[in-house]
Amino acid sequence: MQEQQKALFEVEPEPWELDDHGEEFVATVVFAEGAPGEFDYTIPEELSDEVTVGKRLRVPLGRGNRTVVGYCVCVESKQATRRLKAVQSVVDQHALITPKMIELTRWIADEYLCSLGRVLDTVVPAAVRGQAGTYMATFLSVSTRVAARLTQLKLSPKQFEIVKCLASSPAPMLQATVLKHVGCTSAPVKSLIAKGLVEAERKRISRMDDDEEIAARVEDIDLNTDQQQAVNHVVKTLRGGKYENIVLYGVTGSGKTEVYIRVIQEVISFGRQAIVLVPEISLTPQTVRRFRSRFDSVAVLHSHLTPSERNWHWQRIARGEVQVVVGARSAVFAPTPQLGLIVLDEEHDGSFKQDNVPRYHARDVAIRRAQTDGIPLVLGSATPSLASWYASKKDDAKLIEMPRRVLDLPLPHVSTIDLRVEFQNRYHRGAISRPLEQAVKEALADDGQVILLLNRRGFSTHIQCPACGHVVRCQDCDIALTHHRENNNVVCHYCDYQTGAPARCPDCGFEGIRYSGLGTQRLEAEVKSRFQDATCLRMDSDTMRKPGSHEEALARFRSGEIKILLGTQMIAKGLDFPNVTLVGVINADTGLHLPDFRAAERTFQLVTQVAGRTGRGTRGGCVMVQTFSPDHYAIDLATRHDYTSFADAEAEIREGLGYPPFGAMVRIIFRGESEIRTKAFADEFTNAMQSYFTKKQVEVRVLGPTPAPISRIRGRFRFHVLMQSPSKSVLQESVRHAELTQKAPEDVQWLADVDPLDML
Ligand code: ADP
Ligand code: ZN
Repeated sequence: MQEQQKALFEVEPEPWELDDHGEEFVATVVFAEGAPGEFDYTIPEELSDEVTVGKRLRVPLGRGNRTVVGYCVCVESKQATRRLKAVQSVVDQHALITPKMIELTRWIADEYLCSLGRVLDTVVPAAVRGQAGTYMATFLSVSTRVAARLTQLKLSPKQFEIVKCLASSPAPMLQATVLKHVGCTSAPVKSLIAKGLVEAERKRISRMDDDEEIAARVEDIDLNTDQQQAVNHVVKTLRGGKYENIVLYGVTGSGKTEVYIRVIQEVISFGRQAIVLVPEISLTPQTVRRFRSRFDSVAVLHSHLTPSERNWHWQRIARGEVQVVVGARSAVFAPTPQLGLIVLDEEHDGSFKQDNVPRYHARDVAIRRAQTDGIPLVLGSATPSLASWYASKKDDAKLIEMPRRVLDLPLPHVSTIDLRVEFQNRYHRGAISRPLEQAVKEALADDGQVILLLNRRGFSTHIQCPACGHVVRCQDCDIALTHHRENNNVVCHYCDYQTGAPARCPDCGFEGIRYSGLGTQRLEAEVKSRFQDATCLRMDSDTMRKPGSHEEALARFRSGEIKILLGTQMIAKGLDFPNVTLVGVINADTGLHLPDFRAAERTFQLVTQVAGRTGRGTRGGCVMVQTFSPDHYAIDLATRHDYTSFADAEAEIREGLGYPPFGAMVRIIFRGESEIRTKAFADEFTNAMQSYFTKKQVEVRVLGPTPAPISRIRGRFRFHVLMQSPSKSVLQESVRHAELTQKAPEDVQWLADVDPLDML
């Protein structure tokens, strides 16, 4: 009786009961959508075993006690201060995420100013939450006691076969397998279970088969001294069991991947796992094969995985069955149980930053994860980000250099072609200058291959009426439309709006509207007409839409079937083709004059990376860079392979302006369909921030609000404010304050981007 009464009180404690009651078990729950913040619920007795950190729970929320699903991020016994609602039920059989990863998630939420629930939804893939590709299945077994009496049992022939089959299996068998083996329906199984002779157990299993590509084993290469010294350092840190951020600055072709592989071998020898992050477009079969040929168990996480595949990989990783996880940005969240090392290859690459909520940078998340796990992090690049360079200067990171290419191959000779001079000579009006044309001919005659980079897709990038000056723009975005020749359409590269190419000016009706500006399609047409005997292939996001097309294109280039590969930055990264003897950069200036303080850094990286695609074999190689600004320091120093001078020059400029990495930056973007209301709110918001900073007496520079460089996207006007301060936490604090105090009009949204990469 007493027991019963106690149980009653536990389910429905009255407020006056709480003092007597003392502590109760409480689950803290966060939600991905809607209610931000953390909510406490009591855990009913009957769920006390089931409720654990990292599972999702069904709980009542709000006045109407609507049932919602949230993540349980904490379970503790605490003194109740008010009456709590109770957890209704538990969604997941097993925790989706470990307490350690929840701590990392919490850091991301704080750092990038978004809710913990939202971050959890990013960290745990939807496919894992939905248990994609798994189903409940029945497993059958017989006890040894039954197996021993097999011949004495009174059984029908089918039943006998079933028990015999199970008795000979060392582990419980899938019911479906047994039925197939014996060739019967489930009826005899049911009666065996009813008789208590066969035991049945329901378990969730995966539909996936082991689909791993078996790569031929490759023996270890002899490391050169630079590589050996890099490996020695990382291994020493590994053995010391402590965190270190190691910036591996190795020129293109210095053999960085081989260094990663050797170090990972060491990690694995301790029974630990490694995560290797690469830019999404570098996740090619070539890259994957380099790891698969050296390790038994490699999981590759790329964006084309089906939900079933993604879930299957996740489960294997969580069980510790995977030695090396290779993946793009989000692989930094891979649930490796005993992580030993994280590598970011091409660490300077912009794709490591997510451009929607949570706007995390995988490098910073990796730093945090490595710090908490006490493991080394290797950031590899031929053009380290200024952030990593500066970290090494401040002793926040250890710099290791590999200044030479493997096998003493020289870096390619780079020359510039001044497009201003070419323009005055006016031999012809194409994209390819005389000297470059000559070089292509020579390379082809010599049976070499050629790479041509143009970082703009489409045919004509500018459509303007010479009579009235009208430029054809997207109706919803502040962007000139690009002419694509395949369907004779003009396309918006921001919202994908498409319409037929106009033959006359849409504004004044003049019939001679002019299509100009150079995109990869026009370049392709020019290449085909100038080098008619050479096979040529264009690689950009238009031709590479289908999954697998990227691989196919590269395979054709590798085999030598394709002589000239042209395309956008897609072709600049990581490719290692020994027969490429010439790289041409059609216009090095495409990104140089964008209103973005990283424009020079990106241009330097792009030119250096694409130049690095040649001279990788014994045949040598050369690079020709066409530019209107041959004297610009980013271009000049890239042609001289002089990263250090570039980093120093760039650092000086940034330091003077307090730009990252010398200060923190937060960008606030305002969007709305009404230009007036959006601007009004941006003004009001900025004023409120200014007064807040004055009151707090903190040093913050506020730039704006101004219309964003792309002032309209998808019909919404955009304004932005840049806030700069030596202290990041001051900026973060101010955004949290704004979240509580600023009320935007219904049709205006604002968002904060911490450490923004995209300034447009
Ligand atoms: P990076 O990533 O620094 O540009 P890679 O790791 O792609 O360079 O190496 C370039 C090429 O050199 C690869 O084909 C690799 O197999 C080869 N390589 C790496 N290390 C050595 C070495 N010690 N001796 C000979 N070849 C090597
Ligand atoms: Zn548009």
